Amino acid sequence: MEIFIQSIGTVEKKLLKELAKPLEEIFGIKCSVSNDILEIPERAYNPSRDQYHSTEILYSMMNILKVGSNHIIGITEVDLYASRLNFVLGEAEYPGHFAIISLHRLKSPNKKLFLKRVLTEAVHELGHTFGLPHCGNHLCVMHFSNSVVETDIKGPGFCSDCLSNLFNQ
Ligand SMILES: [Zn+2]
Ligand SMILES: [Zn+2]
Repeated sequence: MEIFIQSIGTVEKKLLKELAKPLEEIFGIKCSVSNDILEIPERAYNPSRDQYHSTEILYSMMNILKVGSNHIIGITEVDLYASRLNFVLGEAEYPGHFAIISLHRLKSPNKKLFLKRVLTEAVHELGHTFGLPHCGNHLCVMHFSNSVVETDIKGPGFCSDCLSNLFNQ
């Protein structure tokens, strides 16, 4: 079992590479960056919102990418929304193999902060694929983020409960 980081549309490769090592450390399994780019499916675009439907992109990942027992975190620059939500920072199968996050609302001129946000959201969505639900502890990475403010409060670490659930699945 491995984690693959998959760019959905064009994403800076350097950023994806910077994510691999901390993801590997947090989940304790090998993490690599996929070489190919998955194009964003046209049908995911909603012109009246100028946003992309995250669930459509997840379906496209499921249809196109070979996953086996691995987990794939898709990363995209475009802004995402899902049913009933104005925007989402990411979406994942719960449990399953596929997850996606958007960089759109995580941007910061502070590079370190930006990377921490991306890592936090990637860990959160991958956590769902490993069967973890949302957590009530606002410092835990599995706490639901309504905005990047909450992402900054929680950071990429699991609370002790989520950590033990992660490894007891
Ligand atoms: Zn969540
Ligand atoms: Zn937790």
